[in-house]
Formats: sequence, structure tokens, C-alpha cells
Amino acid sequence: MTMNPGPAPHPRPLTPALAAPSVGLDLDGRTVLVTGAASGIGRACALRLVAAGAKVKAVDRQADGLEALLAQSLGLAAAGSLEAHVLDLTDLDAAEEAAAGTDILVNNAGLQLVRPIEEFPPEVFHTVLTVMLEAPFRLIRGALPHMYGQGWGRIINLSSVHGLRASAYKSAYVAAKHGLEGLSKTAALEGAPHGVTSNCVNPGYVRTPLVERQIADQAAAHGIPEDRVVADILLKDSALKRLVEPEEVAEAVAYLCTPEASFITGTSLALDGGWTAH
Ligand code: NAD
Repeated sequence: MTMNPGPAPHPRPLTPALAAPSVGLDLDGRTVLVTGAASGIGRACALRLVAAGAKVKAVDRQADGLEALLAQSLGLAAAGSLEAHVLDLTDLDAAEEAAAGTDILVNNAGLQLVRPIEEFPPEVFHTVLTVMLEAPFRLIRGALPHMYGQGWGRIINLSSVHGLRASAYKSAYVAAKHGLEGLSKTAALEGAPHGVTSNCVNPGYVRTPLVERQIADQAAAHGIPEDRVVADILLKDSALKRLVEPEEVAEAVAYLCTPEASFITGTSLALDGGWTAH
């Protein structure tokens, strides 16, 4: 059956990136750890939380990206501060250690490979699960003693619409994100008596390097030209035909740190343009 693809996606975002933060948030005195902070969503989250007054520890394996982030944070008229920490999260012991003393943990680092299962390299499957599921477990494990000790903590896991739905050719990513959903809910149940909430944020496709890098692979896997990938593959199931901006995702993360969100735990906050309404 041929489906009507509907109108072509707008070439520019219909809602521009947020010019200014919209969620009222004061994180003065709070320490935050953001993983994967050198790029995309992690970078936007780190800057947003510095702008809210937090002391942000920005973790990534990319030193160059962290340096650029640090320079950008210095240009903010913000009360907070940023410290860059080069770390490859496949070093799980170091990851757990880095999380000690954190009030707010943003588990964001991730990677993607688009291949059919029978061609998917097992070592890449292992790395994806390590960075996107086992490292978050170890980071949560490292952060909880301090959070429990003070009776307050926020765990925010950057999941995806792929934590709630599968797509072909993304076995490792979909498996890791579904696992992250379970980890997040378990942390919510264990953390509740200690004032610690744990939630997932679940974007559809966000305008970041991770998405830009998969366009060629998606074209090859689906046998279509690259210029049709965004409309025909990425936005096929999204009711809103545009990519989400990293700043919009960071605003959802900021909301989960507000006092108003203190009763929200164990949930998955979808920013998916209606994808999971299907
Ligand atoms: P990105 O590629 O722009 O940034 C990911 C960052 O993670 C990079 O800076 C990278 O260096 C870092 N990273 C990867 N492996 C690492 C490791 N071993 N150790 C330390 N750092 C490592 O990607 P993004 O689009 O900003 O994605 C961020 C998160 O959001 C990911 O978890 C991703 O799955 C999720 N997400 C992204 C989208 C999207 O459309 N871009 C949609 C839904 C969910």
C-alpha cells in the first residue's frame, strides 16, 4: 500500500531555537554532571544549566568540543560555572568515580550505527550498550550516595523515541534505549524515599551531528537518495514535520530540575512531534 507522505517538511524549523530560556530555574549551589557535553543535546543542556546558575561538570571524550563549550560558557551572562572533564565512558570505573558528589546527573552521551542485524558488528553493539546503558548505571551508582545523603537528587536520562518504539537497522541503539528506560524507572522506585527522582526525556529526531552522520547510512540501508532521508525516513512517523532543536530538549531537562517537577518520577517525557501517538 502506498501512503500519502503529506506535505514536504519545512526546510527551516517552524519553531526557531529558543532565543531565551523559558523555564524558570535557579540552580545556584547545585552541582550537575552532563555526559556527552561536547556536542548536540549535551552541549545545549550544559549551557542551559550553567545559565540557571549551576556548577556544571561537562564530560566527554572529545577534548576539542569541550574546549569550545568552555569558551562558550564563559561568554554567558550566567551565575554558574563549567568545568570540562575529558573521559571516555567505556572506562566504567572512572565514570562511576566522576559522578561522586553530583546533585543532578544528565546521562546523555550516545552514539549510533545504522546497519541490518546480520551486518551489525558485534563489537559496535557492545560499545553502544556500554556507553548508553552500562555507563549510565555506573554513573547513577556513583551519584546516589551523595544524593541519598542530602535527601535530594535529579537523574535525567536522555532516552529517545527509540526507548519507546523500534526502527529497523538500529538494533544496538533501540536495545540500549529500551534498557535505559528500565534503568530509569528502577532508579525512580529506589530513589523516591530519598528525594531522588529519575526520568527519561525522549526526543524524536534532533538537529545534531548524531543525526547528520546517519543520513548517508540511512540512505544506503533503505536504498534511497540522501536528500530524501529526512522526509521519507526520519520524519515519516512524526506528526510535526520538523527536527527538534537541541535547545528545546535542554528546556525539557531544565523543567525536570524545577521544584514544580518534584512529583514527576519514573516517566518518559516525549518530545517526539506526535510519533508515539500512533
Ligand atoms: P552527538 O553525537 O551530537 O553528541 C553525543 C556526544 O556523546 C558526543 O560529544 C560524543 O563525543 C559523546 N560520546 C559518545 N561516546 C562517548 C564515550 N564513549 N565517552 C564519552 N563521550 C562519548 O549526539 P546527540 O544527538 O546530541 O545525542 C545526545 C543523546 O541524545 C544521545 O544519547 C542520543 O541517543 C540522544 N538522542 C538524540 C536524538 C537525535 O535525534 N539527535 C534523538 C533522540 C535521542
